[in-house]
Amino acid sequence: MSGFGQCRFCSENPFAVLFGSKPEEKKTRVQVAPKAKTPSKRNEANFQRRSEEEVKETVARWEMYVHPRAKEFFSDAKQLEEVLSQLAKGTDRNADPVLGSDKECVHWYGDVTKDELQAAIRMVKPGESSESITYVNRVLAFLFATDESFEKLMQLPKEPFRMSCGDQLCVNLAHISVSTC
Ligand SMILES: [Zn+2]
Repeated sequence: MSGFGQCRFCSENPFAVLFGSKPEEKKTRVQVAPKAKTPSKRNEANFQRRSEEEVKETVARWEMYVHPRAKEFFSDAKQLEEVLSQLAKGTDRNADPVLGSDKECVHWYGDVTKDELQAAIRMVKPGESSESITYVNRVLAFLFATDESFEKLMQLPKEPFRMSCGDQLCVNLAHISVSTC
């Protein structure tokens, strides 16, 4: 039996902030009045992939900034490295969602969820053997947000976080909105 049972205990687990609700559970979500959708400014034609070497460099640079809560969670350093390298591969070689400028959007060129185009990666959670889909902005917050922002983000619904720039394919850590409205 391998269902995704939601027990009361899990919902109190701080790590739940990382994984959020699974896209396939969205059916039950209450539909709010549709907002005018801001189309993403992402232009795939501009995407410049990082080379293998650049991915490694980027991962090494980010590793120094990973919050202890994430290091504890990924007790296997290889798993953390794998997640970071997916983030490096999904972003442009000239952009940095973690350490870059907060002025410009950092667009995501990796996987997106089908229903509402949210940046996503597949990852194997520690202790599990199969991959699950995780929203990039939740992963970023989990890995890099300060305690103060992380606490605020944990109060928000377990969905992809809203981006303050209005572009859900932007993955700039500084653009993740901690506002509850
Ligand atoms: Zn942005």
